[in-house]
Amino acid sequence: MKNKAKLIIFTGPSGVGKGTILADFFKKVDNNIVYSVSNTTRKPRDGEINGMHYFFISKEEFEDLIEKDEFLEWANYSGNYYGTNKKFVDEKIASGKSVLLEIELQGALLVMKKRPDAISIFITPPTFEELEKRLRGRHSEDEESILKRLDASKEELKNTNKFNYVIENDVVQKAVDKLIEIYNKETK
Ligand code: 5GP
Repeated sequence: MKNKAKLIIFTGPSGVGKGTILADFFKKVDNNIVYSVSNTTRKPRDGEINGMHYFFISKEEFEDLIEKDEFLEWANYSGNYYGTNKKFVDEKIASGKSVLLEIELQGALLVMKKRPDAISIFITPPTFEELEKRLRGRHSEDEESILKRLDASKEELKNTNKFNYVIENDVVQKAVDKLIEIYNKETK
């Protein structure tokens, strides 16, 4: 079967479990899809590796990349810059690989406008209380950042109707299976 290279936008509030779903997804799917490693000015968390989870760069470096028009999209989220490398995305798609962007809402809406053929997926928590519990439970942010992220989540959750697919992350395995199903349906 011929593979169709697609741009896949993967969005959802902080703490919803996007990372966990994707780690399992990438273990299970073929190698016709790659993860787009974003640039960020956020400091690395324990265990995060430069070039694998993000390219961790300074604010000055980031602003220089904006100036040079190197981003497909970028956003200021919770006090830090995050951006998608345009050249990486375009080269991969041209080579026949699908590309998955794990990005927040503003960036997602921008890419959906710029690339109308992209597939958009939004991950929701079972409830807002559960989201707060997960975000606090991972102990990766201080209180100020947790509150900023919960605030952003409320806005993000109002936009689920703009996405091609909505997956509720109640049981991780089920969410992964749904994502695999969407990927296969859209690219094979
Ligand atoms: P975190 O700091 O938890 O790694 O990421 C915070 C938020 O930024 C998450 O919702 C994540 O999906 C989003 N994000 C990561 N990379 C990018 C990017 O390149 N562009 C945009 N717009 N958002 C991103």
